[in-house]
Amino acid sequence: MNENSIPGTYLVKLKARQEVAENTVAFYFERPTGFSFKAGQFLDLELLHPPETDSKGNTRAFTIASAPSEDHLMVVTRLRDTSFKQVLTRLPLDSPVNIEGPFGTLILSETMTKPLVFLAGGIGITPFRSMLVQAVHDQLPNRIYLFYTNRRPEDAAFLEELHTRQETHPLFTLIPIMTQSQLSLHKWTGETGYCDGTMLKKYLDDIQQPHYYVVGPPKMVEGMKSMLSEAGIVKTQFRSEKFSGY
Ligand SMILES: Cc1cc2nc3c(=O)[nH]c(=O)nc-3n(C[C@H](O)[C@H](O)[C@H](O)COP(=O)(O)OP(=O)(O)OC[C@H]3O[C@@H](n4cnc5c(N)ncnc54)[C@H](O)[C@@H]3O)c2cc1C
Repeated sequence: MNENSIPGTYLVKLKARQEVAENTVAFYFERPTGFSFKAGQFLDLELLHPPETDSKGNTRAFTIASAPSEDHLMVVTRLRDTSFKQVLTRLPLDSPVNIEGPFGTLILSETMTKPLVFLAGGIGITPFRSMLVQAVHDQLPNRIYLFYTNRRPEDAAFLEELHTRQETHPLFTLIPIMTQSQLSLHKWTGETGYCDGTMLKKYLDDIQQPHYYVVGPPKMVEGMKSMLSEAGIVKTQFRSEKFSGY
């Protein structure tokens, strides 16, 4: 982390919210002057004087899904019946919240030119959306493959945006995978099942070459790490982050 990414605490206002998948909402906050971060980092978001709370308190960690090159801060979450998420969902626009950050070391190395493979499970897409937007902005030379697993297309945040980015950025390949496409209201003609070694080999010329990033709910991350180890990928070639709380 460089001196530009020193964590601080900031009061910021909620500026907008937008549904980006079923039951999944993006919250846009103003970006305070001086708030610098690297794609892939996260912040702690604290609700101020919420009308209800629970034993988990008023703060949650969220990856910054917007890119450093964008002028707002965006976080994305699955809505659930917890006090925190209910209050956040009903928060009037222009209400202040506290953010602390940035934190985290799951970032891209600017000197590495190897292909990058992003393995995202559900809401684990958030750091990869930031990294991808920033990689295009910075014209990074890396080939980028995103294996993006969800139950159904309806659950996949940013799916349309990612398809568009694939069309306009020749170095980016999107591989969306659905584990329960039969439950979708729409016909799914893409990949189904689980992301395993066979799936990687289908899209990657040499699975030993890339650097791997794995992000998602803890169970998914553990499964992906075992899969990579079984496929012969050594530990120094992959990094992971678990979204504890799922
Ligand atoms: C580094 C990091 C980055 C993260 N980034 C993100 C992100 O970008 N987006 C994001 O959404 N989350 C992210 N998380 C997770 C986030 O901090 C929350 O823990 C998560 O969103 C769950 O919050 P909650 O209020 O729904 O549940 P919490 O109140 O935190 O409760 C968590 C626990 O309660 C139980 N629980 C509560 N509700 C349910 C339910 N409906 N179904 C099943 N079990 C339930 C589960 O046992 C769960 O383990 C990140 C976490 C870390 C550590």
